[in-house]
Amino acid sequence: MSSRGSGLQSKKAILIICDGMGDRPQKDFGNRTPLEAAYTPHLDRLAKNGWTGLMDPVSPGTPPGSDVAHFSLFGYDPYKYYTGRGGLEAAGAGIQLAPTDVAFRCNFSTVDDNFTVSDRRAGRIKDGTADLAKALNGMRLETVRDLTVEFVQTVEHRGVLVLRGSRLSRHVSDVDPHQLGVRVLESKPLENSPEAARTTNALNEFTRRSYEVLKNHPVNIERIRVGEKPANIILARGAGTFPQITPLSRLYGVRTACIAVVALVRGICKIAGMDVIDVEGATGGLNTNFMGKAEAASEALQRYDYVLLHVKATDVAGHDGNFEAKKKAIESIDRMIGRLTQAIDLSQCYVVVTADHTTSVSVRDHSGDPVPILIFGPDVLASDVTRFCERSVAHGNLGRIRGFDITPIVMNYLGKIKKFGY
Ligand SMILES: [Zn+2]
Repeated sequence: MSSRGSGLQSKKAILIICDGMGDRPQKDFGNRTPLEAAYTPHLDRLAKNGWTGLMDPVSPGTPPGSDVAHFSLFGYDPYKYYTGRGGLEAAGAGIQLAPTDVAFRCNFSTVDDNFTVSDRRAGRIKDGTADLAKALNGMRLETVRDLTVEFVQTVEHRGVLVLRGSRLSRHVSDVDPHQLGVRVLESKPLENSPEAARTTNALNEFTRRSYEVLKNHPVNIERIRVGEKPANIILARGAGTFPQITPLSRLYGVRTACIAVVALVRGICKIAGMDVIDVEGATGGLNTNFMGKAEAASEALQRYDYVLLHVKATDVAGHDGNFEAKKKAIESIDRMIGRLTQAIDLSQCYVVVTADHTTSVSVRDHSGDPVPILIFGPDVLASDVTRFCERSVAHGNLGRIRGFDITPIVMNYLGKIKKFGY
């Protein structure tokens, strides 16, 4: 472990984000939330001996996307710094964006000659997308000649389109209609500017031409031959630019790392200046390697000051509307935290546990409810609540805070915040 000027061992912190863990009381389950119903001795112990309260990931009543919520939890006000999903997607795929470039999240999709969408994921295509992407990459556009088109496939049917050049805008609508049996949309400017008009021209031409390039591509001819859906068009959505933020490492002078599988979360972590640590068997699903994550986190805390540990399983169960699966995921997280807290020196490390939003099993989507939070550490005031759940922590000693307060609160404990005033 490193030491600071005084020769004392420097303090560390871990932020554990249980994606979508917050919930609402469920009538069919004794009016309890999955967190209330779960057996969580380790979380309860941390809650009893730490600060507890409620946290609004972005602002009260606003259902946040995971991207916006993570921005907030890392201390960046999303209303100031969030610049659309596409830029984050590009970062997650390891693509460097210049401040003037605009990036889009894309799907390989299937359309007929009339541009009517029959499958937004092209039969969940897995193979051949690298060849298809190569055929699109570097396309010269007729309508906007001074742009460079970059297209990269990512996982399965997904990809990223980057328009590189100047005088572009991220304020343009999607060509992806987000439903089947309807025609591909024309992208429209969402602001009255020549930049937005220019960007829609480029995107609309790219979309049309992607169909011309892909429909007779050998990969698709073979797919049709074996009865699979051709990946014959690229449908773009979520225009975005690279967010102009200062990495945590520079803001606070800390070494940071993340343990996360989900590409979007990894992308945001990279932008925030974190090193990304891979864990064997971590899947982003209900069957993830919880104990492997605990071990990776305790190792990371020897080399880094601030570690993010992200678990997706709770969100997956929430979107599935599966109370029992969510309860089970929470119990697995509890055991993971048990393993982690055994392995680390709790007299030198703060442990923060919260969610990035509520994904209630009754709503099956994100909602704008506050989520529970606990901050355990060597010199924090015990809240004396007996359970870590939505109901108990409302009586906790932290009150109600916003997502972007968390990182400054932690950095204060690590002695990384400069005095405001003299
Ligand atoms: Zn989320």
